[in-house]
Amino acid sequence: LMGYVGFANLPNQVHRKSVKKGFQFTAMVVGESGLGKSTLINTLFNTQLYPRKVPLPPSAERPKTVAIESITADIEENGVRLRLTVVDTPGFGDFVDNDESWKPILENIEARFDEYLEQENRVNRQKIVDNRVHACLYFIQPTGHSLKQLDIEFMRRLHTKVNLIPVIAKADTLTDEEIVSFKQRVLSDIAEHNIRIFQAPIYENEDEETVAETEEIASKIPFAVVGSDQEVDTPDGRTVRGRSYPWGVVEVDNEDHCDFVKLRQMLVRTYMEELREHTNLHLYENWRSEKLHAMGV
Ligand code: GDP
Ligand code: MG
Repeated sequence: LMGYVGFANLPNQVHRKSVKKGFQFTAMVVGESGLGKSTLINTLFNTQLYPRKVPLPPSAERPKTVAIESITADIEENGVRLRLTVVDTPGFGDFVDNDESWKPILENIEARFDEYLEQENRVNRQKIVDNRVHACLYFIQPTGHSLKQLDIEFMRRLHTKVNLIPVIAKADTLTDEEIVSFKQRVLSDIAEHNIRIFQAPIYENEDEETVAETEEIASKIPFAVVGSDQEVDTPDGRTVRGRSYPWGVVEVDNEDHCDFVKLRQMLVRTYMEELREHTNLHLYENWRSEKLHAMGV
C-alpha cells in the first residue's frame, strides 16, 4: 500500500495495550434489601460474586446504619481481563428513619474521588488505580405507584457525583401494562425533580444503526429487570436463565420478557467505556474544580 502511513492502525494499538493492561470497572448497587441486587450482579457478570445467602437467625443483631461493602473479582472473557469491583450498600432504606441513608454513600463516592486526586498529585503517577464508582444501579421497588421520597432524595443528592442508572427491580412481579405506566411515572418524577440520569451520548456523524441502537437502549430506561442465577426448563424444552412460575417461565435473556439484555448493553457491552469516561471528564472533574475552588486554589 503506497502512501499508507499507518496511523489508521492506532485503534488496534490502543486496543492491544488496553487488553494487555486489563480493564477496571466499579459498579455500585443501591436499593432496599431483598430487591434482588446481589442476584442481578451475579446474573450480569455470570459469576457467583455473591454466594447464595444464608438467612440470618431472627435473634442476630442487625446493623443500624448503611454499610459499604466492596467485592472485587478478576473475570476474563476471550482473553480480555476485567477487574470488576461491586460496591454494595446493605442497610439502605431498611431503617425506621432513612432520611440520611444517602449520606454514607455520597461520602464513599467522594472519598474515592479524593483518593484519585491524591494519586494524581503524586510525583510518580505511573500506577494510578482508578477506584472511582463508574456507575450506580439504583433499584426501585416494583410498587407500580411512583417513586418514594427515599428514591428521590437519593437521586437528587447523588446525580452530580455518579452515573445513575435506575432499574425497576423484580419486574416479573408486574404485568406488562403495569410496567409501562410505572416507567412513565418514574420518568416524570425524575424530570420533575431535575434529576439527571446517565444517557449514552450520540455523536455527530454517527451511523444510523448506532443511533438507532442508542435510542433503543434509552427508550427502556428505567430498565425493568429480572435476575436469576438458576437455569430452568421452558415448556418448549429449552434451558434458560430465568424464574419459573405455575403459568410459565420468565426468561432473563429474552427481550420480550424484560430489559435485562438492554441493561447489560448499557453497563457492559456498549457503554462501559463511556461510563468510565463520563465519570472522569465530567463527574470527577466538576467535583475536583469545586473542591479546589473551595480550598481557594
Ligand atoms: P438483595 O438484598 O437486594 O441483594 O437481594 P437478593 O439478590 O439477595 O435477592 C433477594 C430475594 O429475591 C432472593 O430470594 C432472590 O431469589 C429473589 N430475587 C432476586 N431477583 C429477583 C427477580 O428479579 N424477581 C423475583 N421475583 N425475585 C428475585
Ligand atoms: Mg444483597
